[in-house]
Amino acid sequence: GIHESMIKDRVRTDAYREAIMLHQKFIEGKVVMDVGCGTGILSVFCARAGAKRVYAVDASEIATQASEIVKANNLADKIVVIHGRVEDVDVEEKVDVIISEWMGYMLLYESMLPSVLFARDKWLKPGGLILPSHATLFMAPITNSDRYEGSVDFWCDVYGINMSALVPLAKKFASEEPSIEIVGGENVISWPFVVKHIDCYTFTVEEFKSITTTYKVSSMMLAPIHGFGLWFEVEFNGPAESCSNLSSDSSPLDIIQKKRRRASDSTVVLSTAPEDEPTHWHQTILYFPDPIGVTQDQIIEGSVTITPSEENPRCLNIHLECSTGGQNLVKDFAMR
Ligand code: SAH
Repeated sequence: GIHESMIKDRVRTDAYREAIMLHQKFIEGKVVMDVGCGTGILSVFCARAGAKRVYAVDASEIATQASEIVKANNLADKIVVIHGRVEDVDVEEKVDVIISEWMGYMLLYESMLPSVLFARDKWLKPGGLILPSHATLFMAPITNSDRYEGSVDFWCDVYGINMSALVPLAKKFASEEPSIEIVGGENVISWPFVVKHIDCYTFTVEEFKSITTTYKVSSMMLAPIHGFGLWFEVEFNGPAESCSNLSSDSSPLDIIQKKRRRASDSTVVLSTAPEDEPTHWHQTILYFPDPIGVTQDQIIEGSVTITPSEENPRCLNIHLECSTGGQNLVKDFAMR
């Protein structure tokens, strides 16, 4: 089921295929490692793009089907499927390219980025290519009255019955865990800010241990803020290309300019932003227990800290602080 939803996500799968074709000159005749190959779809794309050899590594039982898929497509002489964790496998040579679809909800939830970094440090030749090469996690305040009314105000009149006794519980549950759902560009009420920009060539596991940023944005409208939305983009640039890096304090202008650059042919961008076509990642929303009203041009500021949970590093703890017009909110979310 998981593989079906990923493969049917055309935005995702086409972005990888386009990126492979865009960077074909770095793949043709070269050795590739597909970290977490799943069904092997990205390995097949790379082999078809002319890779000399692809090491397709997956820790789960799906590796058995990946082998069959490779055989059924007459690529057994090119693709070597290895069933095992990338941290444990042994291959005969260093690789020119690492490709991986490692991104989780809000980029970092259940993310296999640490495994990709491990593979990079152990198996990638100097000057090799990593696809994707860069990832950026964005965040912005959002308004979503329909959603709030549907899950909180709903209890005030249920078939003519006043059930508002449930409102405190509804607020508590709506805001306890991050919610994975689709919002649109119209729900976003300020320019987004960058929570983290990751250069896959240089990022280290240590940097992943606590990600924190302060923000200061200005509301574009009079609206209740119901929470914050998180989403990400990944870029597939050429080897060690770092010119399009964004820092945590990227200005709206940097972001606009970056979006314009996308029109150029030198990169492929896979976006999960509200204004773009939905993907199976949707967006991740941190709902407040109560909305905070803002006026146009009002400053919204605070900080956000994301830390992998100590018990299970694939789960995340999120600490959010937000203040605007004298109203302050401090809230912790757990994504398990
Ligand atoms: N590349 C495929 C599947 C992506 S899903 C596609 O694009 O469709 C991620 C895959 O990574 C899963 O199949 C999971 O079993 C595998 N995986 C997760 N951690 C891993 C690790 N440490 N080593 C190898 N495979 C891993």
